[in-house]
Amino acid sequence: MDFETGYQMTIGGRGVDGAGRIDVVNPATAEVFAQAPDCSRAQLDEAVAAAQAAFPAWKAMPIEERQALIRKCGEALMGHTEALARLFTREQGRPTDAAKQEIQGGAAWLMAFSQMTPPVHLEETDTRWIETRYVPLGVVCAISPWNFPVMLSMWKVAAALAAGNTMVLKPSPFTPLCVLKVGEIFRQILPPGVLNVVTGGDELGVWMTSHPGFAKISFTGSTATGKKVMEAAAKDLKRVTLELGGNDAAIVMPDVDLDEIAQKIFFGAFFNTAQICVATKRLYVHEDVYEGLRDRLVGIAKAIKVGDGAEQGTVLGPIQNKRQYERVLELLEDAKASGLTLLQGADVPDGGYFIPVTIVDNPPEDSRVVQEEAFGPILPMLRFRDVDEVIARANASEYGLAGAVWSKDVQAGIDIARRMETGTIWVNQNLELTPGTPFAGHKQSGFGVENGMEGLLEFMVPQVVNVAR
Ligand code: NAD
Repeated sequence: MDFETGYQMTIGGRGVDGAGRIDVVNPATAEVFAQAPDCSRAQLDEAVAAAQAAFPAWKAMPIEERQALIRKCGEALMGHTEALARLFTREQGRPTDAAKQEIQGGAAWLMAFSQMTPPVHLEETDTRWIETRYVPLGVVCAISPWNFPVMLSMWKVAAALAAGNTMVLKPSPFTPLCVLKVGEIFRQILPPGVLNVVTGGDELGVWMTSHPGFAKISFTGSTATGKKVMEAAAKDLKRVTLELGGNDAAIVMPDVDLDEIAQKIFFGAFFNTAQICVATKRLYVHEDVYEGLRDRLVGIAKAIKVGDGAEQGTVLGPIQNKRQYERVLELLEDAKASGLTLLQGADVPDGGYFIPVTIVDNPPEDSRVVQEEAFGPILPMLRFRDVDEVIARANASEYGLAGAVWSKDVQAGIDIARRMETGTIWVNQNLELTPGTPFAGHKQSGFGVENGMEGLLEFMVPQVVNVAR
């Protein structure tokens, strides 16, 4: 299979060119290196019709057969790891080794969901027999972002298809290529119409969320767009799952071993150039260990290579797209203009969307770098003394996605974790997500659940058969 050219949509099991084309930019060079199809409204209608036509047979297929096909998709994705990872680096920016983990992660999700079977409940009395089982919804509209384009798309594909739904999937216009290639790979395995992949600009997302042919929208992206998606869904009461933004706090207690945790905390904040929904975005550090951790983090920032992810030795790549780059630069300018102390890492190359790793030294709690989700390599480090006070500060956010606690006293860590108002809290680790564990944003970080049995059941509805005896 050719990964350098031939980027086509998948509609009804066929490769289809767009009505037009959109440019795809390599963020390490800021140059256009490929084009992706621009889906027309009529082509979207075709994709929805293909998914609707495929639904009855896919739903009726014995679950073991569906699971076997999903497993085959996982194996095929794994088999194309190298080629996809190289393409991933060019369109997304992340260094190739880390890109491989994303492809393998996507495959792992498919494998895991190919083993999940929804429960059936039986209730029997002398007078009746009640069966509650779960049935799929129909055609799912899946929309994914540019920071983890393959992995987050696979979260949706794995669960929705395992549940017996069919799908039209739209990746971000900034990162369409790998997902188009995944569509091409799966085209050889799945019945036509079960998974359709379309690409285009943001307006394609608007057409999709208002399209009457979908039964459910599964969306991952910003909170601002998530609200528009929910509004669009209300018109015909489409089911929605929204995985949205976050401003995750990490709390570092005074008993930690700084040498042991500094690297982990650094990459919990800056992996993927800090473009992670669940990255540490506010780092609260006890005053006893504040300077020690700050100096270690700045030391790591100065030692690592930031550059083109295709080059040997690069640890962090560019910001993924120009729009995000300008947003992060503006936030950095605001921090400078506000007189905050910025501690920066290694120099970055010219030409692409590069921003040096920046640690903001104890800014006021109400500064923009603390209050806003930067989604770029600017990390505010904040001093604290009292646990109750720091938990209150961590929780004073409209977001509630994830967070972390670092302490040698694991029970104390768990106690703090339970008081945090977020869907996931890690203790002495970071960024660990598994297909079997529910992932649910609290507050304005989301609506509904992905992953785990809860995530599978979000793509289904209960159906009760109640029989008189
Ligand atoms: P975004 O909201 O701009 O775009 C996400 C997707 O929605 C893209 O595919 C885009 O084309 C589409 N879209 C844009 N406008 C739309 C509209 N009006 N209707 C329907 N679709 C539309 O988000 P982004 O910039 O691609 O991603 C970054 C954001 O995603 C960050 O806030 C990050 O925290 C969040 N995110 C959340 C999770 C999570 O699981 N909670 C994971 C990754 C990223």
